[in-house]
Amino acid sequence: MKKIIIFILLLTMGEAFADSNAIFIMYHRVGDARYPTTNVTVEQFTEEMQYLHDQHYNVLPMADIITKLKHNETLPDKTVGISFDDAFDTIYTTAWPILKKYHFPFTLFVATEPLDKNFKGMMTWAQVKALAEQGVTIGDHSVTHGHLATANVATLEKEIMSAKERIYQETGQQAVLFAYPFGEYSLNFPKLLAKLGFLAAFTQITGAVNAQSDFYLLPRIPLNQHYADLSRFKQLLQIRALRVSDLTPAEPVLQQNPPIISFKISDPTITAQGVNCYDASGAALQLDKTHVPYLTIHFKKALPSGRTRINCTAVDKKGNWYWLGLLYIA
Ligand SMILES: [Zn+2]
Repeated sequence: MKKIIIFILLLTMGEAFADSNAIFIMYHRVGDARYPTTNVTVEQFTEEMQYLHDQHYNVLPMADIITKLKHNETLPDKTVGISFDDAFDTIYTTAWPILKKYHFPFTLFVATEPLDKNFKGMMTWAQVKALAEQGVTIGDHSVTHGHLATANVATLEKEIMSAKERIYQETGQQAVLFAYPFGEYSLNFPKLLAKLGFLAAFTQITGAVNAQSDFYLLPRIPLNQHYADLSRFKQLLQIRALRVSDLTPAEPVLQQNPPIISFKISDPTITAQGVNCYDASGAALQLDKTHVPYLTIHFKKALPSGRTRINCTAVDKKGNWYWLGLLYIA
């Protein structure tokens, strides 16, 4: 009898581990309509924070979420982490009072050179320090905010560590979270960030995070005013990570264009036949399902220069949405 109870207990715990799922959302500007692709309106932002509050989402510090997942601890249902990239002044003037009202923790990813040079529209270091003193996490977003995917390792290390040093000088915080400028990365980054003692790093690829995620390539859902209506926001908060293995090419910086992308669906709740993939590059994506559970993506044309994001989604029997975001840089 005892053995059976322990067995059932282990089964339940196993399920709880497997189910721990978190969503990270990201913003740039709030209430600055001059930049629609990196802005949400004050109304949208207010509505979204209100929704998280009213629906009892657990908005937790990003580092806490990651530490729990790394240790295979169970996360509460509806766990969300909030972040802002670049330290635009509207975050201080407009977003901060709304976040404070709900006691929502968040991370501000700072690229240090624009602040050192007092760029217009950015926070001052004094404002960043004021946020840090009130418990806001300050993350590393490089020195120059350059396109770093093709930079060599020595340059990357300098970008990461000099920014970390400036953040420490100005705020007293040791940044352990990194966000890739423009969401662009190469596979040089994860190894380097781990070596430099960082806890995690974030892309701008849509997806959900679980204990199996690569903690140095964590997806984060970018929100802007074109794609920030509340119904879409609600849907995105419910997505789960679509687990795949054997992804090729794993390196986002393309050696061959168009690439032939292939991966194996390793999620037991998803049938590979039910997966759909799409992109907005205009390169005519075609999904080949003749070798399931392996899926292959072909393109009729070369991917355009710059970033191409590919999204693959599937629905399980219970109606849950699973999502895999991929990034390639041509
Ligand atoms: Zn940025």
